[in-house]
Amino acid sequence: EEEVAEYRKGLAIRVSGFDVPKPIKLFEECGFSTALMGAITKQGYEKPTTIQCQALPIVLSGRDVIGIAKTGSGKTAAFVLPMIVHIMDQPELGKGEGPIGVICAPTRELAHQIYLEAKKFAKPYGIRVGAVYGGVSKLDQFKELKAGCEVVVATPGRLIDLLKMKALTMLRATYLVLDEADRMFDLGFEPQIRSIVGQIRPDRQTLLFSATMPYKVERLAREILSDPVRVTVGEVGM
Ligand code: ADP
Ligand code: MG
Repeated sequence: EEEVAEYRKGLAIRVSGFDVPKPIKLFEECGFSTALMGAITKQGYEKPTTIQCQALPIVLSGRDVIGIAKTGSGKTAAFVLPMIVHIMDQPELGKGEGPIGVICAPTRELAHQIYLEAKKFAKPYGIRVGAVYGGVSKLDQFKELKAGCEVVVATPGRLIDLLKMKALTMLRATYLVLDEADRMFDLGFEPQIRSIVGQIRPDRQTLLFSATMPYKVERLAREILSDPVRVTVGEVGM
């Protein structure tokens, strides 16, 4: 335990919550399949980043997580890699419809970046990733969703539009990520986020990532996450 505390301190990692899994040093400790390890290597990722060292084992254990770390720290892989594991763990993956993983991001650019990263790790498994954001034909996205996607990466407004159009159902969604939550609030997406969360079954795993943790984001996190583990890397603004 003391060794774990020292290791965290050395990496400027702070955690709160009970029974927090200990941080890893290598991707090999995650129990990833050969295919996923291959995809990680292909991306040029040799070692997990600091946030990944602590967030990966927690997310893989099935816990809800609040992850706070600055931009560029590798948060995307911290939620995308466990999402692939979560999806492949579904006993009846071939059956049912609608996404299992739902990732919300504040802007089209950010959603597109996540989409590209998710596709790289999803590819070896044939997991289909759908992109749902503005500036792209809604009809094309409607068709893509209708054809079937195990993962949807979305901006909140467009996702709500497509939900209203019944392009997808959230019945199977059990892994929800709210990325850059602070920016989603700054852009006024709180009502849309609440609406989306309200359509996803409560026994989901929920992950919230943010560079800062203002009170409004904190309040939402308390409402929609269950017994979350909070992981903070470095200094954090409010
Ligand atoms: P954040 O979401 O925290 O801003 P990103 O997930 O966008 O950060 O990652 C920032 C950059 O670091 C990306 O170019 C990504 O490919 C790269 N990256 C992520 N994880 C690793 C890793 N383990 N090793 C090397 N590079 C990584
Ligand atoms: Mg990010």
